[in-house]
Amino acid sequence: MADVYFKSASTPYAKDALHLSVEKFMKKVDFIEKEDIVAIKLHMGELGNTGYIRPIFVRKVVDFVKTKGGKPFLTDTTTLYGGKRGNAVDYLITASINGFSISSMGCPVIIADGLFGREEEILSIEGHEIGVAKAIVEADSLIVLSHFKGHGMAGFGGAIKNLGMGCCSKNGKIWQHEASKPLYDEAKCILCMKCLTFCPAGAISEDNGKIFIEYEKCTGCGACTVLCEEGCFYLTDEIAEKFQRRVAISAKAVLKKFLEKSYFINFLMDITPRCDCCSFADKPLINDIGILASTDAVAIDKASYDLVCDVAKKDIFYEVHGINGLVQIEEAENLLMGEREYELFEI
Ligand code: SF4
Ligand code: SF4
Repeated sequence: MADVYFKSASTPYAKDALHLSVEKFMKKVDFIEKEDIVAIKLHMGELGNTGYIRPIFVRKVVDFVKTKGGKPFLTDTTTLYGGKRGNAVDYLITASINGFSISSMGCPVIIADGLFGREEEILSIEGHEIGVAKAIVEADSLIVLSHFKGHGMAGFGGAIKNLGMGCCSKNGKIWQHEASKPLYDEAKCILCMKCLTFCPAGAISEDNGKIFIEYEKCTGCGACTVLCEEGCFYLTDEIAEKFQRRVAISAKAVLKKFLEKSYFINFLMDITPRCDCCSFADKPLINDIGILASTDAVAIDKASYDLVCDVAKKDIFYEVHGINGLVQIEEAENLLMGEREYELFEI
């Protein structure tokens, strides 16, 4: 059974301030050695999104790593879809606007898969060759900060998703998204034609009053499932499960390098329906719950999911997306990445 530490978002006194709890969580980290290069992996938010992890929490992690003599850097990878994080230049500008720069964080921000997402190491796992971002693979230890929230293709996203998708190069992402090419529901379509412009692969076309997806071109990026306001693009259970299994396999590939040198903090705040890749953040589904920390990526995601369901009194992610996000947790446990059984310790 894994230990998961929890700090409630309820903070009636200054001594309970949430950023201080991040310090307490970090004091449980004992694997950072002097001169270690420490990758702090987080999603720094798409331009226009406001739900991502607040910079003050991240700064606390950076400062702790320095007290141990480690050399931290903030990191993430480029995206597959259009937006303001598709290459390292755009991402660094977006990160700076969102509050993450060397001057605000006290450490460099490095886009781990290079200028165009091609800098990778190929790691073998379960018979698959996974493209993982080079700067992450080359680090000595890994701290994963995850905003726990809904996700249109995985039900929800936490530590496993952050590892699997977030630490991979473009090739690694393509392999995962190949499993998630959407279907099109003609009955819902009002032929507004917006999808013809927002598909980054140019895979959507119109002919004779009908929309078509060219699956040879489609990368499965999911942009159309988010951006079509009529909900015409959708995933079946089978597609969503296959996608989540690939995310978990990729997460396992990343973790192989950091078996005894990884730590996870999940932020159950601003629990929005969709992920921080969106250029907007809808109002949260429920009130803030708090912050969790663990050395076990599976346990922390299961504990996060359970807390959300407890507060919402239902699987609110399933209600929003119709996707069972527990598949990623089950698959990660099957891959021996961690365990679903956990004990929660409140700090
Ligand atoms: S964006 Fe949606 S509603 Fe508009 S044409 Fe495309 S599929 Fe139809
Ligand atoms: S059709 Fe949809 S999932 Fe496929 S590439 Fe275009 S936007 Fe992405």
